[in-house]
Amino acid sequence: MKLLIADDSKLSRTMLQSITKPWGYDVIIAEDGQQAWDIMQQENPPELLLLDWEMPNLNGVEVCERAIAQNPQSPPYVLLLTSRTSSNDIVEGLSRGANDYVAKPFDSDELKVRLQVGKRMIEIQNKLNDTLAEVTLLASHDALTGIFNRRAIMEAIPREMKRVERLKQVLCIGMCDIDHFKKINDTYGHLVGDKVIIEVTKRMQHALRDYDLIGRYGGEEFVVITPIDQVDATVVYQRVCDNISRTPFIIDEHVIDVTISCGVSVYHDDDKDDESLVLARADKALYQAKEAGRNRVIQLEKEYETDIL
Ligand code: GH3
Ligand code: MG
Ligand code: MG
Ligand code: MG
Repeated sequence: MKLLIADDSKLSRTMLQSITKPWGYDVIIAEDGQQAWDIMQQENPPELLLLDWEMPNLNGVEVCERAIAQNPQSPPYVLLLTSRTSSNDIVEGLSRGANDYVAKPFDSDELKVRLQVGKRMIEIQNKLNDTLAEVTLLASHDALTGIFNRRAIMEAIPREMKRVERLKQVLCIGMCDIDHFKKINDTYGHLVGDKVIIEVTKRMQHALRDYDLIGRYGGEEFVVITPIDQVDATVVYQRVCDNISRTPFIIDEHVIDVTISCGVSVYHDDDKDDESLVLARADKALYQAKEAGRNRVIQLEKEYETDIL
């Protein structure tokens, strides 16, 4: 673990460095507060800080405040080194963000265990942050395909609609459903069915661009949000369909022809629809695509409510 030691006294720096190095820290030295702050602004800064309070330019408490403000989600652990040991000083240092303090002249055994406490706290904090990131990812992503789950893609729709209204643009929302998927399950089993869903996802993603959003709406049904107009959508959704139908899927040595149908709802910035109406229009278009023979795209606009493809 990186340990930043900042002290304006050369003697004190040298001593602290030679004491802490054998404890296994990757020691980084700063000669004053400004240098310490420069180090903290670099990529991958130290997480454990041993800061002398009294230093020219920036003092230890100021460095501490800046370092915490820079990364409040995952702040460094700050141990102040100080000859100020009056109760008022301690209250001030700790209330401005320091985690602990060691009085000068320091006792080496005490410094060792106080640094160990800091290291433990940082390790716990990092573990919690990793878990939180994992949980956040799980809460918004589908476990089978890794794309957004229903909740996340549904939350994205009104957000994208508002953006389109602001920019006076057009948004297309697609509902795409695998054709005769029940038959695939019945013929090859659910495990193969799952792999078909995964491969469909990959091929859809391949046909979309980075700024399009895709989520699994339910079983074998996907919602796609494409910030493009109806003309571009004709091309994009046809490409999505073609990417799936063009070459058969090879799954566990089975050669399977797969197709999907897409219903596309066009949303103009002045339509003034809410998201449920926009989605209902996509669903209606999807139903029409199925009725018309599957493996195709049907687009619906509010004004016409008829297919234009
Ligand atoms: P259509 O062309 O009209 O869409 O017909 P379909 O057979 O695709 O539609 P239907 O709604 O009749 O069947 C969908 C099937 O998808 C039924 C369900 O068991 C299956 N399914 C839903 N979720 C999953 C899943 O996660 N894995 C697998 N393997 N099957 C699923
Ligand atoms: Mg000093
Ligand atoms: Mg289906
Ligand atoms: Mg379905």
